[in-house]
Amino acid sequence: TAFNSPPLDPVLLENIHLARYLTPTPVQKYSVPIVAAGRDLMACAQTGSGKTAGFLFPILSASFTNGPTAPPPDTAGYGGRRKAYPTALILAPTRELVSQIHEEARKFAYRSWVRPAVVYGGADIGQQLRQIERGCDLLSATPGRLVDLIERGRISLANVRYLVLDEADRMLDMGFEPQIRRIVQGEDMPDVNHRQTLMFSATFPRDIQMLAKEFLKDYIFLSV
Ligand code: AMP
Repeated sequence: TAFNSPPLDPVLLENIHLARYLTPTPVQKYSVPIVAAGRDLMACAQTGSGKTAGFLFPILSASFTNGPTAPPPDTAGYGGRRKAYPTALILAPTRELVSQIHEEARKFAYRSWVRPAVVYGGADIGQQLRQIERGCDLLSATPGRLVDLIERGRISLANVRYLVLDEADRMLDMGFEPQIRRIVQGEDMPDVNHRQTLMFSATFPRDIQMLAKEFLKDYIFLSV
């Protein structure tokens, strides 16, 4: 396929083939090698550009190859299978958007160890809790509901290796900055040197520039 530079995990390549993605879109062409090289990324890209696969492909490829990370010993006493330790966290502003990301994640995580999960506000939390108990390696979440689940002790961010802020400008427009700060600067989130951070935004105004400076490390700027 055309998705071979850098080489992606064979299981992922098979799933890309099944999804009939033949050629990378421009954002994928640039973001996949940048993320695969371990760099932080600030990308200006619109919905419809293929940005979802642009961040999912390198994250899933490395995850498939590296295998699962054991949960850390839990000093807070909520240990066991009732607490989820996602290794990849994707924040997006709306139920529709996190659901789309989750569907794409399910499609490309097929026949791998990675179990995707999704949580969003305005829906029954009990059903979402049962879902994350069944597996939550790659979590797509709206900020408010995620804060709620962290406060209930049901999700820990201690294992997060990949953090994605999708449609960051819309998240700020919708007033999610306090929740985003609570998540990204919370005590169990690994610091900027111990995670890889990717930010996607349609626009790049001053407040997004400030957030990128705070949350990303030595990032590459991409505009497509
Ligand atoms: P997104 O901008 O991530 O919301 O993607 C927009 C649409 O394009 C989605 O329906 C994707 O499934 C589709 N898509 C993304 N990348 C590709 C690709 N390389 N080839 C074909 N379809 C794609």
